[in-house]
Amino acid sequence: SLYPENRGAYYGFIGAVAFVYLLIVYLGFRLAATLMQLKAQQRILHATNASLLESQRALTYQAMHDPLTDLLNRRGVMELLGKEMTRSARHAEPLALGMCDIDHFKIINDTWGHPVGDEVLCAVANFFKAGVREYDLVARMGGEEFLLVLPCKAGVDTDAIFERLCRQIAQTPIAAKSGSLSITISIGVAYASPGKSIDQLIDAADDALYRAKNEGRNRVVRAQGIEVASADTACASPARAPFC
Ligand code: GH3
Ligand code: MG
Ligand code: MG
Repeated sequence: SLYPENRGAYYGFIGAVAFVYLLIVYLGFRLAATLMQLKAQQRILHATNASLLESQRALTYQAMHDPLTDLLNRRGVMELLGKEMTRSARHAEPLALGMCDIDHFKIINDTWGHPVGDEVLCAVANFFKAGVREYDLVARMGGEEFLLVLPCKAGVDTDAIFERLCRQIAQTPIAAKSGSLSITISIGVAYASPGKSIDQLIDAADDALYRAKNEGRNRVVRAQGIEVASADTACASPARAPFC
């Protein structure tokens, strides 16, 4: 039993213990709530971060690809070509470039309309994709001009690959909405070599393409004045319409 004079102190003590206990319980709840809030914010941050990364990936993809054909665009292929040139120089392995341009493409647009022209561009893009190896690069440089980059081992006849593509495209009618269209392409081929810059390599392929056009189209011409072959002599006439 408590002495009356001690009762005040005793209840004071009990009250203080109860207060501290309630304070601890209260702080515990506050802490748990804060932790839950932090976890929720962390989840939101993770989600935001993931969606930012995804947007960044999508933007990088868009910056490097052509929206019509989904091929690499000029910027995309130039970036990868630089890497391929370094790799080919390091391993002393050949690297062939084929600048391809659809012959008389303007006639297709003028005759059948721009949407059919777009269909032809997509068909040609798919044709190139299907016709080369997985590690070759296929790009749309702009308009109706495509670039093929073929890294290869010494001794591989890349000229034969370009000739085959040129011949096959001339022999494979494109099933467009307007009906079946036949097209031909001209290809200018250049090879990477030590000391040749990326611009020099592209220029060499462009020059060869220019000569392929001048020499009658529907053919492969190699840089430095060596013509590889006429794809199909029956179809190589410059007077031939780009669709049959
Ligand atoms: P060449 O044999 O000398 O190459 O003749 P060409 O008619 O193919 O070349 P030209 O440069 O005279 O015409 C190219 C045309 O390509 C003109 C342009 O309107 C068309 N073109 C460019 N980009 C696109 C596109 O995205 N879609 C379509 N449908 N046409 C395009
Ligand atoms: Mg053209
Ligand atoms: Mg062109």
